[in-house]
Amino acid sequence: MDAIALDPRLRHAGAFLAKSHRMLIDGKFVAAASGKTFAVTNPATGTLIASVPEGDKADVDLAVAAARRAFDGGSWAKVSPSERGRLLWKLADLVEQNLEELAELESIDNGKPYAVARVADLPLAVDMFRYMAGWATKITGSTLALSLPGEYLSYTLREPVGVVGQIIPWNFPLLMAAWKLAPALAAGCTVVLKAAEQTPMSALRLAELVQEAGFPPGVVNILTGFGETAGAAISGHPDVDKVAFTGSTEVGKLIVQAAAGNLKKVSLELGGKSPAIILPDADLDAAIAGAASAIFFNHGQCCCAGSRLYAHKAVYDKVVAGVADIAAKIKVGPGLDPATEMGPLVSDEQFARVTSFIADGRESGARVAAGGGRVGNLGYFVQPTVLENTTPDMKVVREEIFGPVVCAQPFGDDDLDAIARQANDTIYGLAASVWTRNGGIAHKLARRIRSGTVWLNCHNVFDASLPFGGYKQSGWGREMGEEVLHNYTEVKAVTQAL
Ligand code: NAP
Ligand code: MG
Repeated sequence: MDAIALDPRLRHAGAFLAKSHRMLIDGKFVAAASGKTFAVTNPATGTLIASVPEGDKADVDLAVAAARRAFDGGSWAKVSPSERGRLLWKLADLVEQNLEELAELESIDNGKPYAVARVADLPLAVDMFRYMAGWATKITGSTLALSLPGEYLSYTLREPVGVVGQIIPWNFPLLMAAWKLAPALAAGCTVVLKAAEQTPMSALRLAELVQEAGFPPGVVNILTGFGETAGAAISGHPDVDKVAFTGSTEVGKLIVQAAAGNLKKVSLELGGKSPAIILPDADLDAAIAGAASAIFFNHGQCCCAGSRLYAHKAVYDKVVAGVADIAAKIKVGPGLDPATEMGPLVSDEQFARVTSFIADGRESGARVAAGGGRVGNLGYFVQPTVLENTTPDMKVVREEIFGPVVCAQPFGDDDLDAIARQANDTIYGLAASVWTRNGGIAHKLARRIRSGTVWLNCHNVFDASLPFGGYKQSGWGREMGEEVLHNYTEVKAVTQAL
């Protein structure tokens, strides 16, 4: 194995990276049962930054057994809602106290700019733990009015679904862990979470903070390993009551199949091909900057990236030129360089995938208005890319690229149903943005677009209170807000004859 090569610009995360890494199972830090490890690399250079345990089915079995014990009348079942809230709030404080270190881990592991992790990923994760800490004491049922003859007292209880398996992706490693852990723990579930193989470092540091916060053993188990082994063991496990997954639509379908064995509950947050729609009356400066940020934020590695850009023909040329101009000026470089605005893609695999999409777009007749190539010859950097002259049937328009590539198309219609049809011409339904000064039109389009989120004159606005998730093949269920608690609770109707 190569020697570990750490970026000299690291100021906070060096000590953690240099440690011998362990998974959190049943309140203890352990190696994989097999003793195997795998390499974690810096996508800006391709060099090794750490080795972590390669957890597989044997480790998942141990973690699920521990989570089962903690849930079934064990340590977690006896913890009061208020104490669950306190523990989550404590974890939020600990994440906040270690914000710079965690932001550096995100940057060196995922490639994203340190400054972005520091102001976006980390504060959103802290806020998610705090928001869900508040919900722990507010998960209630209701009393019901029956119409049957006779007198009854009926009420509902909202109870934790049980042992939850959680499988997360690499695009916002710590934030995805927070989106998953916080509501499950607030609801009283116990958890086995698997980090993405490309980005396990912040989850392992979070595991230390979970211990420091004082969660009882077995309540939170955090594993590193591969999807095909550890991930599949979680989604197929007979003692897991529910699996929550974020990632590709393709793997989401495998999760559903694996879950069928014991009919575990499933929630899925999957891919997208989200439209940004610019109407002729929009504030064009804001719309152009917004459309560019919709696709280039996080290097386009967002499930809700605005990857299809529709501009009215009256403003189309100006919009494409404006977005292309922004793309050309984005400073691409290593995430730890303070001048960097966009880092590398997460892995060689994603680099190959995104560049092959760009090549396919070119071959099928798209014109490259900006970017289209790689940056440098080290690491996985791709230029922010604008493809125009794209048509609805092209692969680049239909499939999720998950990189900094936007496909622009003009529209001539003023009919809202026709505009919505174009926006809805996709198997996905995660998000959309509409840019216009006309509030009535904005809200009419919001009703016509079939997606879980519609942003008006903004894109990529997230808050712990806002439910997020997909229509159609973008998923099942919602993350965040009060809504996510439905993912982690069962409803019980209790009726007494009086
Ligand atoms: P992925 O394969 O769907 O990975 C997401 C998570 O699922 C990872 O933790 C992965 O583990 C795990 N996994 C993979 N195969 C599994 C299986 N058979 N059973 C259970 N878990 C499994 O996504 P990817 O390969 O990293 O990226 C491929 C494409 O997915 C991207 O280009 C993008 O289009 C899409 N994607 C979407 C999102 C999103 O937020 N919607 C996020 C990431 C990727 P490993 O990491 O060990 O494979
Ligand atoms: Mg994969």
